Amino acid sequence: MPLVLHVDDDRWLAHLQRTAERLPGLVPVAKGNGYGFGLTRLARRAQALGVDTVAVGLHEELPAVAEAFDGSLLVLAPHRPHQPRPADLGVDPDRVVSTVGRTADLRDLVARSDTAPRVVLERLTSMTRHGADAEMPALVDLAAELGCRVEGVALHLPLPTGGAWPRPGRLRRVASAARGSGHVEEVRRLLAEPALAGLAASGDAAAQVWVSHLEAGELAQLAGELPDRRLRPRTGTSLWLGDPGALRVTATVLDAHPVARGDAVGYRQRPSRRAGTVLVVAGGTSHGVGMAAPTGAGSLRARAATVARGLLDAAGRVRSPYAVGGGRASFVEPPHMQVSMVFVPAGAAVPAVGDEVAVRVRNTTTDVDRVDSAL
Ligand SMILES: *Cc1c(COP(=O)(O)O)cnc(C)c1O
Repeated sequence: MPLVLHVDDDRWLAHLQRTAERLPGLVPVAKGNGYGFGLTRLARRAQALGVDTVAVGLHEELPAVAEAFDGSLLVLAPHRPHQPRPADLGVDPDRVVSTVGRTADLRDLVARSDTAPRVVLERLTSMTRHGADAEMPALVDLAAELGCRVEGVALHLPLPTGGAWPRPGRLRRVASAARGSGHVEEVRRLLAEPALAGLAASGDAAAQVWVSHLEAGELAQLAGELPDRRLRPRTGTSLWLGDPGALRVTATVLDAHPVARGDAVGYRQRPSRRAGTVLVVAGGTSHGVGMAAPTGAGSLRARAATVARGLLDAAGRVRSPYAVGGGRASFVEPPHMQVSMVFVPAGAAVPAVGDEVAVRVRNTTTDVDRVDSAL
């Protein structure tokens, strides 16, 4: 009775291959819920693609990826003194590349490492998340002084829109537009800083630039301008989820109950406003169904959609992500832990128990019960 992610394996593989060809130096990112596929499956695909490095989000994700991928493992979360040591997680520390953005963290990492650690030094960007700003020259000097194996600089750039938080579909459209991410100038400016320019001269490994959210054309342009650098695009969403046509999520219909107008239904015993069928479908809050991520309502359209959702909500009609009878069924009440109850109005075709209905989910925040794929 599961929520299933169906993968068109051939089509997905073709997209992964095409993306790897389009992005030389690709570093697949395998983090969180494994973009809906699971970390181990992503690690296996990275291994098959032949890349030399996979990026994980957190130290805790290292063991799952290390099992199925035998190259280097870049940890995107900046090193902090509270983090577990790779060795304590059963992962060979020599395979791990730490991201470091503060001198205090670098000292801690060296003190806790048995051999010279492999590090990527992170420079703060307009993203304003992690990384060194005024401290960058001191960080570069300290890495040399402490004998670290410096493997380049990391620049985490904002998404290409600059406005509302994009939904994946919107992101793809924006990303494929010719105008680009708009971050090339920022990359140029940061790499020209003396501390970072110096890194390029201190060896092939140190000349790597680990970037995110630049497009293929921009990467090619920068590569042309910076022949002494090696660009390493850290890419998750547009790699794993970049061809939505290869992916489909379905939920099994678990039960169906005819109701008359006024019948009390569900945990909350709200009277049904119409006659129809209450459909019980797989997928609930434990899967992430119906849990909306906060959206930055930047555009007028996005704000209008938020208002419309609020009105539906006030009227007790919240549109569910389940596709039934050609439209999206409304929730009877908020989703439960493992199932949701949705309403099919009288007259519409009612799927049978055991049928599968399509569900629109955000892959990065949904934990499916099963991935239907031979990969
Ligand atoms: C998650 C992450 C990425 C990959 O992001 P996508 O949008 O999934 O491609 C790249 N760099 C850093 C630092 C990240 O945390």
